[in-house]
Amino acid sequence: MRYLVISDIHANLEALERCLELAEGNYSQLVCLGDLVGYGPDPNPVVERTRELARVIIRGNHDRACAGLLDASEFNPLARLATEWTRHELTLENFEFLRRLPTGPVTHEGFEIVHGSPLDEDEYILGPAQALANFRAMSDPLVFFGHTHRQGGFLLSASDRFESIHCSRVLDDKPKTLKLLDEHVYLINPGSVGQPRDDDWRAAFAILDRERNEVEYFRVPYDLAKTQAKMRAACLPEVLIHRLAIGR
Ligand code: ZN
Repeated sequence: MRYLVISDIHANLEALERCLELAEGNYSQLVCLGDLVGYGPDPNPVVERTRELARVIIRGNHDRACAGLLDASEFNPLARLATEWTRHELTLENFEFLRRLPTGPVTHEGFEIVHGSPLDEDEYILGPAQALANFRAMSDPLVFFGHTHRQGGFLLSASDRFESIHCSRVLDDKPKTLKLLDEHVYLINPGSVGQPRDDDWRAAFAILDRERNEVEYFRVPYDLAKTQAKMRAACLPEVLIHRLAIGR
């Protein structure tokens, strides 16, 4: 079985469609780690497309905020503004759909999915401090997480050796492959589809291959100018428009 794992789409339809196009015919199930909306200009089409295709979706903090389940005053002013804009845009049906999204962790066919971390759906796993605390608490040896918008992850070997998984310079259409070893435990971040923050503007996703026991990390360029033009037309903040181009 091959699973397409996506996260942090953030209402970027061009990025989502490009990822789906590249992965087409190369997976049998779609799994989504949350943050379908917030920041980007296409919340409704992104919710509808993801909903139509995904076998399992969990909620992210922006989904909660846009669906009125989280007080957006905790967000920075730009994220708050985008949240308010999204709330007005969402159809009632999509708003209700986001409201009902399950909370991670969710165990799915032998691996676990979370938005932030296994311990806390809002935690950012950015380095060894957070990763190690979560490794100690994990019951599944393979967890997919998002929220940081940084492709890569962490592993802990049977002999307690800690390693960061780096994905810099993944080539277009040529994935970086990570072999999963039985005795290791993994925290894997597929990266962000719609708003990468790892200094690479290209849309990110991952594919888990259960037969080969591998994770493949992909990056793909998309029609960034089109997304940015839609954001401008929607009067979304210039800082949010600019950050897409620098992957920050
Ligand atoms: Zn996010």
